[in-house]
Amino acid sequence: MNEDHSIVIAGESLAGVTTARELRRLGHRGPLTIVGDETHPAYNRPPLSKQVLDRAQPGDATRLQLTDDGITIVRDGAAGLDLDRKHLRLGSGATLPFDKAVIATGASARRLAPPGRTGENVLRTLDDARTLRDRLATAQSAIVIGAGFLGMEVVSACVRERVKVTVIDVEPPLRRLLGPFLSGHVSERATAAGVEILLDPGGVTLIGDPVNGVRFGDGTERTADLIVTCAGDIPNTGWLTGSGLEIAGGLVIDAHTRTSHPDVHGAGDVVTVRTATGLVRRPFWANAVRQGQVAAHAILQHPGAPAVFDDYFWTDLLGTAVKVVGDLPLHGPPEILDGTLADGALLRWRTPHSTTIVAWGLKRPLPRLRALAAAP
Ligand SMILES: Cc1cc2nc3c(=O)[nH]c(=O)nc-3n(C[C@H](O)[C@H](O)[C@H](O)COP(=O)(O)OP(=O)(O)OC[C@H]3O[C@@H](n4cnc5c(N)ncnc54)[C@H](O)[C@@H]3O)c2cc1C
Repeated sequence: MNEDHSIVIAGESLAGVTTARELRRLGHRGPLTIVGDETHPAYNRPPLSKQVLDRAQPGDATRLQLTDDGITIVRDGAAGLDLDRKHLRLGSGATLPFDKAVIATGASARRLAPPGRTGENVLRTLDDARTLRDRLATAQSAIVIGAGFLGMEVVSACVRERVKVTVIDVEPPLRRLLGPFLSGHVSERATAAGVEILLDPGGVTLIGDPVNGVRFGDGTERTADLIVTCAGDIPNTGWLTGSGLEIAGGLVIDAHTRTSHPDVHGAGDVVTVRTATGLVRRPFWANAVRQGQVAAHAILQHPGAPAVFDDYFWTDLLGTAVKVVGDLPLHGPPEILDGTLADGALLRWRTPHSTTIVAWGLKRPLPRLRALAAAP
């Protein structure tokens, strides 16, 4: 592509900002516009469920810096994509022409309450996090629906704030991704910290208007001061309806972030990647960064693009920092390379095809973990 061509990026967050930075770094000099529908300047989401929920931490600085002055930010929603005319339509009705477009509109929190019903809290945006932090300060009791990473981080915040918390899921905490070994350990730690863990294989429904509790499959009900749903996310592809782009549980891209249209790329939580084994969606921070980098390489036809996935993520569970490098889900028990689970351990899972390394409450530099995961 000509380095002076105009590029429009939809979504002013991690994937969009990374794409813009990388385009400039690789030499793109043409007009570059980011369209974002939030009122806040771009920010990072991982601190929302960690530092921002922790009233002992000063402020809630999560800003994602865009150092390049030549980038135009348009604070509006992207409302449609006309691929014949090559323009992006904004909520205001204005249009932005482009030579290349990047879709980086991320995902939204999945809600369980019907539209219009109040009282259900979710955690996806800075405003959600500030609301939840305020509510944690006054609540006596909370129910968290969903015992994945986000749900267990919210549970951790409840424990820190001395809010009596019940977490409900269809299976034990973190089992789907971390497997039975670490799930068992997390459950023990949570129970020892006073967390009530309840399972409902059919999934609970919300009750009350405003929402103030849950109903289990057997008809019993539970109420609490605070109800937080952490039941996954939904890719923000609705605005692409009618564009002709392939959507299948996310905007479909290939290993070079190409969509079904040659002038449109996708990156971050909005995408699902076509791989040899099928469509794979991994909505984690490192993948949003990586796919922004790959998109910039692909658009500029710059050599040396990295792989479309960077299998690294971290979380913070009941005061324990966890870093994971490698494939998920995990099955069976690990080899313990160093330490003990109680005091901090370095763990390894090996299959014939991959190695996954977990630093569980043990400080180890990321390059060291990556090297261990890459070792034969
Ligand atoms: C609370 C929380 C904690 C997390 N913690 C971790 C963690 O510890 N480790 C980890 O690896 N990952 C974590 N993640 C995941 C990580 O933050 C995401 O993978 C990352 O934010 C994805 O970036 P993105 O730019 O693709 O999408 P998003 O961050 O979702 O950003 C998309 C942006 O596009 C905007 N947008 C949507 N539709 C439109 C439209 N039509 N027009 C214009 N703009 C639009 C959205 O408002 C948003 O600003 C966490 C996520 C959350 C919510």
